Amino acid sequence: MPEADLQVKNFVSGRVENFTESVIREMTRLALLHGAVNLSQGFPDFPAPELIKRAAQDAVAKDVNQYAITWGAKNLRDAIARQMQQWQGITVDPEREVTVCCGSTEVMISTLLAVCNPGDEVVIFEPFYENYGPDSRLSGAKPRFVKLRPPAAPGGEWTFDEKELRAAFDCHTKAVILNTPNNPTGKVFTRQELELIRDLCVEFNVLAITDEIYEHILYDGARHISIASLDGMRERTVTINGLSKTYSVTGWRVGWAVAVPEITNAIRKVHDFLTVGAPAPLQDAGAAALALPSSYYLQLAEGYRLRRDRLMSVLTDAGLRCFQPRGAYYIMTDISGFGFADDVVFTQYLVKEIGVAAVPGSSFYHDPRSGAQQVRFTFCKRDETLDEAARRLRKLQG
Ligand code: GLN
Repeated sequence: MPEADLQVKNFVSGRVENFTESVIREMTRLALLHGAVNLSQGFPDFPAPELIKRAAQDAVAKDVNQYAITWGAKNLRDAIARQMQQWQGITVDPEREVTVCCGSTEVMISTLLAVCNPGDEVVIFEPFYENYGPDSRLSGAKPRFVKLRPPAAPGGEWTFDEKELRAAFDCHTKAVILNTPNNPTGKVFTRQELELIRDLCVEFNVLAITDEIYEHILYDGARHISIASLDGMRERTVTINGLSKTYSVTGWRVGWAVAVPEITNAIRKVHDFLTVGAPAPLQDAGAAALALPSSYYLQLAEGYRLRRDRLMSVLTDAGLRCFQPRGAYYIMTDISGFGFADDVVFTQYLVKEIGVAAVPGSSFYHDPRSGAQQVRFTFCKRDETLDEAARRLRKLQG
């Protein structure tokens, strides 16, 4: 009945009409449906470290089963502050400057809800991790996109145009969202680039919201720099990180924000009413994870370097042009050599006919045409998984 349809539609807010469901998550569902090797969503298919799994079991057994303090268990906040000091030389007050949330995903939306007013603008480098678009819109802010340009030659860097970045800043700009090491490009922002962003933040009185979830996944001598460590940025940065990628526990949903007390208070308020708190036993295990020795992080990066090199050659052999990542665990590729109408047609063909799931590049751009000849593959998978993908991708060449 058309009349009934109309009424049902009225129950849905205008807010949700401005964006679609996540394509990344949809590709995982399609992979399951078609029995494809899943190189789409970035989650490891290998086990998490024994020590932290045991810490989680112990936490449940010793009855850490009720709400933690809303903004995070003390032992985890202390560990986060220690790690910020150790890795980035940033001194953090765990009592007043840390908020633990349900994954860095909740941290990002809580932060944007805490800082944005209607009419505010948020600068986002694109291609960007899918969530940032809907996050900005849900918080009432208007995203302004600045292009990261792919390297002209293989092995080169993704770059942005300084003038284009400056043009995106004006009196309406509330924040710039930064993601380094970057998903999906694998770019690691250099000190010089961060200083440029810093200068604009200071000049236009803008907040930097920086997603550093791939902090420890770096290659070829790349170094991760937190923009909060730059002069003038400590007071105007929300630094976001979490357990998911560093400790291979994406399903635990534990992430955090570090910011000066005034901003932290605003984030804590939103977080409290959104979710109350992140899972208590997993926060306890998180404290144990953050105490792992530095050798753990070196092994993590080296393990991913080997997987990166493995998948780079698999994809290159299959006829894809690869942009070599310096960090994170994704490879962006150029599919123009295949003559497919667009990235969506290509990834549908790949998942149904070849048996490999990847993410269409357009889901990382506000204008789908920009990513129409790009596709993202993840390599946070076991060697057997990557080998099976290689076997299947050979059919692609034919
Ligand atoms: N960050 C991962 C990706 O880009 C997955 C994130 C998610 O689905 N929550 O694939």
